[in-house]
Amino acid sequence: MNDLRDAAEWLKSADRVLITAGAGLSAAAGFDYTDEGRFAELFPALHRAGLRARYEMIGRDLPPEYLWGFWAVHAEDVRFSPEPSPLYERLHGIVDGRDYFVMTSNVDRLFPRNGFDEDRLYTPQGDYGLYQCLTPCTRQVWPSEPIIRKALDHYDPTTGKVDPEAIPSCPNCGGEVFLNVNADGWYINDHFLPGLDRLNDWLVQTREVGDTLVVVEIGAGFNTPSVIRWPGERVTRVVPNARFIRINRDHPEVPDDLADRALAIAVDAGTAIDQLAHSSGASS
Ligand SMILES: [Zn+2]
Repeated sequence: MNDLRDAAEWLKSADRVLITAGAGLSAAAGFDYTDEGRFAELFPALHRAGLRARYEMIGRDLPPEYLWGFWAVHAEDVRFSPEPSPLYERLHGIVDGRDYFVMTSNVDRLFPRNGFDEDRLYTPQGDYGLYQCLTPCTRQVWPSEPIIRKALDHYDPTTGKVDPEAIPSCPNCGGEVFLNVNADGWYINDHFLPGLDRLNDWLVQTREVGDTLVVVEIGAGFNTPSVIRWPGERVTRVVPNARFIRINRDHPEVPDDLADRALAIAVDAGTAIDQLAHSSGASS
């Protein structure tokens, strides 16, 4: 736990904080795609069919009535629940009022839903709250809540299916649609790029004014390391006064060239955030 005490000091003394977060953070917040008990509870029909966890469903091809049965229940659970997340709220308490930015692969919007500033957020992998044409016939995207609610209204948990009339289609061409997430070449990210521009400007400014920066990476493993894990390391290399804190229960190791300004903290996100919030004096 000494490393966590050092991390708390680094956090406290930095001019700026960049939070980079992956699936491990939302898993610690209760949205664990490997959780078999929760899967059985939410998806009894899929469980009977031999499936055991949500990660098995990501990218799985299914007949549309089953596909939308799963995605409607899943999206409602992780994206549209009105409940706040105490863990994300505690994390927000650590940076509230400070000069921070967030980059996350999580598509659940749990950062802005728990107090983080939309203008200080970049979500390269998309947002379950939007949907798009799979062709795609247009670069436009649309709010997904109406199609998710309609699917849920026509969903039978005992069969896992939605009625054919509740299977959504493109408002523009009538073709197939999916949630606006980076799953394949059809992904439309135009509307997320202003977030990347703001992040880049913020980092350039950090260098120009000579501010100290601490990059706090939480729960970003090797599933898609090019999205969060490696970019965070690169930022630490190119910003002269940057330090790097990696919070990762399973893969905490840091590259050798960063070793003298990095901390590798092998605990889960929940434990680390509780400790850091406590040390920072943030309300929980
Ligand atoms: Zn279309």
